[in-house]
Amino acid sequence: MILSDLSFNEIIDYIKARGLPRFRGEQLFDAIYQGKALDEISNLPKGLKEQLQDVYPKYKILYRFVGKDGTKKYLVALDDECAVECVLMKYKYGYTICISTQVGCRMGCKFCASTLKGLKRNLSAGEMIGQILLVNRDIDGKGTSRNITNVVLMGSGEPLDNYDNVVKFINLASSPKGLNISQRNISLSTCGIVDKIYQLAELKLNITLTISLHATTDENRKKIMPIANKYSIDEIIKACKDYFKKTKRKIYFEYTLVQDINDSDEDVKRLAQMLKGMTCHVNVIPLNDVKERSLKKTTRLMAYQFVEKLKKAGVSATVRRTMGEDIGGACGQLRNTILGI
Ligand code: SAH
Repeated sequence: MILSDLSFNEIIDYIKARGLPRFRGEQLFDAIYQGKALDEISNLPKGLKEQLQDVYPKYKILYRFVGKDGTKKYLVALDDECAVECVLMKYKYGYTICISTQVGCRMGCKFCASTLKGLKRNLSAGEMIGQILLVNRDIDGKGTSRNITNVVLMGSGEPLDNYDNVVKFINLASSPKGLNISQRNISLSTCGIVDKIYQLAELKLNITLTISLHATTDENRKKIMPIANKYSIDEIIKACKDYFKKTKRKIYFEYTLVQDINDSDEDVKRLAQMLKGMTCHVNVIPLNDVKERSLKKTTRLMAYQFVEKLKKAGVSATVRRTMGEDIGGACGQLRNTILGI
């Protein structure tokens, strides 16, 4: 356990259980949420700080890369030997952060750098919160203004493979006493772990569910995403419909365009058929080159052409802005380059 795994009330209880007054808990909470390191806290007694040594978060920013477009990519060191990436993107309406949910990933998608060395471990809810706290602090230097308003769980890892911690994270992030980020501004991206989608729907959270679809036939999906051996596209679509029924949240589909694998006219037809009648949107993403992978990069022009065809077929679709390409913006690329893992 680290203290950022706890909610505001739990931190107060933690402090009270040690016979200390409530305001000490409030000070501790503020320090954690300002992204401070333990030795930077000046208003807590030395004795208490010593007691907190083992539970106070030690995560810190190891590297920061700034892309030409202003996108920042961070490598965050965790309490153990592990490190994860997160990416900060500036939009007109504010800042969006893309955070990691696991160290590595065991899903094995062929185009993705995060999965090259498999899964190392899950992140705790507090380690996911920590990425936001550190970057919030990096933006204003103090960590007191909550500049980050949108969160996407699209960094390294499969969020639904770390279900309990991710749900806990969403509750901490959206709690008014926590980061107070609206659930409507939190997107969870999954390769499609069907039973967990049903489970998530039951919670009736206001978050956006995003499915990494990337193919229109199971046969093709299996070529690039091993998870397709477990769940069919039909099963995923059924689960999405259930999610929409329970939450009334529009479903997003990510469709990374891979030359000669999923970019045919037949794919357009099948996609339109599959999504007919659903409240959904398709984000078409040109493949970011991953040097360890042999798949062919697609151009933005190809992505625009594909989107035009989708629109003609009645599917709501856009080309997703690619940001931070020059700084290894795609999943797992930075960690691989820097740490050689
Ligand atoms: N495991 C989750 C979240 C992490 S991946 C999921 O599968 O959705 C986040 C998104 O980045 C996914 O849509 C993934 O397919 C995409 N992605 C990964 N590597 C990429 C690459 N090299 N180029 C473009 N998109 C990539």
